[in-house]
Amino acid sequence: MNTFSIAIHGGAGTLVKGMMTPELEAKYKAALQLALDEGYKVLDNNGTATEAVEKAVIILEDSPLFNAGKGSVFTATESHEMDASIMDGKTLNAGAVSLITGIKNPVSLAKDVMEKSEHVFLAGEGAMQFAKELDYKLEDASYFYDKLRYNQWLEIKDTDSFQLDHAKKKDSKFGTVGAVACDKDGNIAAATSTGGMTNKKWGRVGDSPMIGAGNYANNKTCAISCTGSGEFFIRGVVAYDVACLIEHKNMSLEEASNEVINKRILEIKGDGGLIAVDAKGNIAMPFNTEGMYRASKSSNGTEEVSIYK
Ligand code: ASP
Repeated sequence: MNTFSIAIHGGAGTLVKGMMTPELEAKYKAALQLALDEGYKVLDNNGTATEAVEKAVIILEDSPLFNAGKGSVFTATESHEMDASIMDGKTLNAGAVSLITGIKNPVSLAKDVMEKSEHVFLAGEGAMQFAKELDYKLEDASYFYDKLRYNQWLEIKDTDSFQLDHAKKKDSKFGTVGAVACDKDGNIAAATSTGGMTNKKWGRVGDSPMIGAGNYANNKTCAISCTGSGEFFIRGVVAYDVACLIEHKNMSLEEASNEVINKRILEIKGDGGLIAVDAKGNIAMPFNTEGMYRASKSSNGTEEVSIYK
């Protein structure tokens, strides 16, 4: 049997330790632990990597603590526009949605795009129409309301600025969630989900739903889920860049992930991190910010739930 493993993240950013109370830190860690355990359980019960990453991301989306699903940040028009993607490293099948609203679990809609449509990426009204045809229930705005996020938005709403959930405001909550997994058969998968940036407008879409940028999986190389300044992660084609370094330069998962996060993306001024797994169950979780909400667990007995370096 292959070593099986899972890694998850709840966003990277400038975490100032003093701003975090012990109670809040405990809450974040408990939420990460729950998602990790549930995802791991899927693998332990012979589920696929794709099923495990969906499960872990659903739990993170249902938590108000992270900028995805329920905890999504506000757009310039006081709404929520969410993006998500999923990729199966065995088949290279992928599904993604962007600019969707009212959907409780965007990752499941992305998985339905992968499994129930001929397409890879559906956006906006079309994605909502697809959800309607699959009888998705729509949550109203109150489900996504969070006082802290609302106040973050009020502070910048009449300006031209937009902000990463984890940038500038030292006391803001952190964003974007993701999971990568390797199952007992040695198949890998990645999923990523986000509410994007506070006060975003013009249909802004980040890296999270873009296959190759914020999310990628290929059994031959690795499964990756990113978090950070999306514009830079798109320009750096980050997730696929890690895969390329493994495939063409024979780097290990750890070396390739570090090269991209601590060198290549920094050279173009991108900040953030990623979680990675390969088909042998190895895990890497590099970040170039002060912290990244992250957790991992492997059948070889290792387990980690951390926020800071
Ligand atoms: N990468 C996400 C985006 O740009 C944000 C994040 O990771 O917090 O939409």
